[in-house]
Amino acid sequence: MTTGSIYETEYSDRPTYPTPDGQIDADIAIIGGGLTGISAALTLAEAGIRAVVLEAGTIGAGGSGRNGGHLCQGWPNDFDRISRQLSPAEADIAWKAGMEAVELVKQRIADYAINCDLSFGYLHAALHKRQMQGLDSMQADWEARGYAHFTYLGDQVALSEHIGSDAYVGALYDTGCGHIQPLKYLHGLARAATLLGADIYEQAPVKQILRGPRKTLLINGGASVNAPIVMLCGNAYLADVALPVMQRRLAPVTSSILATKPLSENMVQQVLPTGAAVADENAALNYFRIDGRNRMIFGGRASYTNVDFGSVEQDLRRRMTNVFPILGNAETEQVWSGRIGITVNRIPHFGRTDDGIYFVQGFSGHGVALSGQSGAMLARAVIGDATEFDVMSKLTHMPFPGGPLRTPALALGMAWFKLRDRLKL
Ligand SMILES: Cc1cc2nc3c(=O)[nH]c(=O)nc-3n(C[C@H](O)[C@H](O)[C@H](O)COP(=O)(O)OP(=O)(O)OC[C@H]3O[C@@H](n4cnc5c(N)ncnc54)[C@H](O)[C@@H]3O)c2cc1C
Repeated sequence: MTTGSIYETEYSDRPTYPTPDGQIDADIAIIGGGLTGISAALTLAEAGIRAVVLEAGTIGAGGSGRNGGHLCQGWPNDFDRISRQLSPAEADIAWKAGMEAVELVKQRIADYAINCDLSFGYLHAALHKRQMQGLDSMQADWEARGYAHFTYLGDQVALSEHIGSDAYVGALYDTGCGHIQPLKYLHGLARAATLLGADIYEQAPVKQILRGPRKTLLINGGASVNAPIVMLCGNAYLADVALPVMQRRLAPVTSSILATKPLSENMVQQVLPTGAAVADENAALNYFRIDGRNRMIFGGRASYTNVDFGSVEQDLRRRMTNVFPILGNAETEQVWSGRIGITVNRIPHFGRTDDGIYFVQGFSGHGVALSGQSGAMLARAVIGDATEFDVMSKLTHMPFPGGPLRTPALALGMAWFKLRDRLKL
């Protein structure tokens, strides 16, 4: 499996990892070589615990190697949806865990000298008045909890410092969020984990888990891994081994990204002069940024039916030129798509079984920082500090209606939100 993403095509000297052979014994087996699984392996390795990571394709083959690179603070969706299910003390733990996600990225980049074009500055941009009101209450809620990174941009004059577009009525400028080249970051983590003792395997799809005090993970091709503890870190790409409790609580949504060829410095100054990444407040949002090589990386076009209608490139170009008409002549370098795993309430779903299988899924398009934090939380839970993991595991996650038909049911539900966005209600 390849991602088709620009990150992969430009990374010709990407590190590779061996394919497993024979029977391997491990303390902990991690399924999935994305940000969650590799972060868990690194946290364990830092504590002196050797884990085995099994990745079906290559490291970053799932969402982690093909995302928009937006580095976002906190849990997706209103924190209210989390806090109202918890005691005040538990809500504080959950809030801090969400807020530590970007800090963890910063700290790891510094500790392990990872070169991944980290840049700070983010616009949460409103397309109309109702969205601006939503941002107002987000600012009030977050600041009441101590977040001190917002600047309120209430009109187009204020916005013009950061973005050359008249598509937005206002924004929150957020210096706590930013962007990175995600595949380079992931490989930096994988290298660090390996140096500290983790064993990473590629081309190692786990087909079945035989349960018991020691679990046996059967890998396509005949190899197997025996371990008492297993972590399922496959998110929207998890194949064959999802637990029943996970299956109806995650729905895959396709999102697509277009990268232009490098823009001139003059053009960059006209579109995003401060280098901020931008996401609008629509349910089916546009998200974009200028990368380390001056390319516009423009994402959007959520498909809840996961059926490809029309040309993805054409649609993304239309979305991009609606925001920046000046990019009408910018050439496309690459277009790719990937699966985002969403939950009903857009909050990641954590859990564990009585016999030692841990999982997290459903970052709902917000996983570049959060999946690493969540992987670290899984690892800490196994090592003995389950405080954050237990709080997040308490949250209720409803199954999507519709059973095997849940994606069409979701599409119908989302049609209303898309219509509401279009009508600016
Ligand atoms: C197009 C797109 C744009 C996005 N943009 C952003 C963004 O800008 N900001 C943001 O915060 N989030 C974004 N996201 C979401 C983010 O990428 C994910 O939340 C995050 O990468 C999830 O990481 P993960 O490690 O949990 O899963 P993944 O990165 O998907 O990794 C799971 C891995 O598990 C492997 N696997 C699955 N089953 C098995 C098995 N049986 N055996 C072995 N291996 C297996 C898969 O091959 C895969 O590599 C985006 C996602 C997509 C698709």
